[in-house]
Amino acid sequence: MTANLLDFDLEGLAAFCEQLGEKRFRAVQLFRWIHQKGAADFAAMTDLARSLREKLPAVCTITDLPVLSRQDSADGTIKWLFDVGDGNAVETVFIPEDDRGTLCISSQAGCAVGCRFCSTGHQGFSRNLSTGEILAQLWHAEHFLRRHLKTGERVITNVVMMGMGEPLQNCGALVPALRVMLDDHGYGLSRRRVTVSTSGVVPMIERLAADCPVALAVSLHAPSDALRDDLVPLNRKYPIAELLDACLGYLPAAPRDFITFEYCMLDGVNDQPEHARQLLTLLQGHAGRGVPCKINLIPFNPFPDSGLTCSPRAVVQRFGQILNEGGIVTTVRKTRGDDIDAACGQLAGDVLDRTNAASRMAQRRHQAPTQPVRIVRKERQA
Ligand code: SAH
Ligand code: SF4
Repeated sequence: MTANLLDFDLEGLAAFCEQLGEKRFRAVQLFRWIHQKGAADFAAMTDLARSLREKLPAVCTITDLPVLSRQDSADGTIKWLFDVGDGNAVETVFIPEDDRGTLCISSQAGCAVGCRFCSTGHQGFSRNLSTGEILAQLWHAEHFLRRHLKTGERVITNVVMMGMGEPLQNCGALVPALRVMLDDHGYGLSRRRVTVSTSGVVPMIERLAADCPVALAVSLHAPSDALRDDLVPLNRKYPIAELLDACLGYLPAAPRDFITFEYCMLDGVNDQPEHARQLLTLLQGHAGRGVPCKINLIPFNPFPDSGLTCSPRAVVQRFGQILNEGGIVTTVRKTRGDDIDAACGQLAGDVLDRTNAASRMAQRRHQAPTQPVRIVRKERQA
């Protein structure tokens, strides 16, 4: 079987070259051709020894993902739908801003966590993406953009693992992909500019700290376990106190001295002033010293059949004001690319659901529509 070179970090590629009887430094040359120059054709790699160039096509490929569609938003956001086989498709979004270009990458076809407010979660789960499939999204987008913008310079300056899927339920494939993003011979992104967003897979937060610490964003969405159990079902396995302990444990390894908490604003569900005050108590009081953090409020992006609506602007502003005045720096995320359904939580792709999550979600929707949950102070904190 031929290897896909997008599956390897530099260490892996060096081992592959050694197996071919080549010196390890050849791997650096090859790696730079692939990731820095976007080459897919071995014949074009002119400074590689000819013997190696001729050997490679028989044993390996550089396999891009087939593009099913590309949509360009009026605000410059670009969304790709990539075919990952067997009826599955994943989405990748490029968001240009004045001082940066951010790529939002998918880690799984679907997602098994099943958050109530997330379109991907409603679709169910098919499978993990491989390292090569995660990296192909970056490889494709970066080199497409360079050609498109006619620039030889780096276009993507930031990566956020905030597309489809729960990255920390796919750590084995994620970690080598992160290493390629950070590698000076690869994309050379700084650890601060690569963010993994998680719904709270507690043991894997520790693993990420050990294997490849990058900026961490945690999808909190609720100030109490009662409410979070309902919105983010993974909370029943890893409740808030354990999650916040894991955040504190991550900080010494993290490239930033704070954790970002994401909080999706759902009308009448988690957006009341009382929730904001409870959030302050939780985050500033945890473990007696609090968790150094910032909060990012995400206005809920609606999708069909969610049964939820976004909090009104004034409610979002008020919520943010309470947090800021209480001492936690809080920002409201700008919605980008909503004319092409590229905003947070709207990524749906196509998922061959192997877990029946989609039908279970539909049942839940009929049986128990989300109700505002009564706030109980200090619950489960003892
Ligand atoms: N699985 C990871 C990363 C992908 S989701 C996680 O949950 O963190 C990226 C972010 O988008 C998360 O903070 C998620 O909670 C948020 N999100 C999901 N659906 C959304 C929606 N419909 N509107 C706004 N934000 C949403
Ligand atoms: Fe999965 Fe994240 Fe969506 Fe939850 S919000 S279902 S963890 S992708």
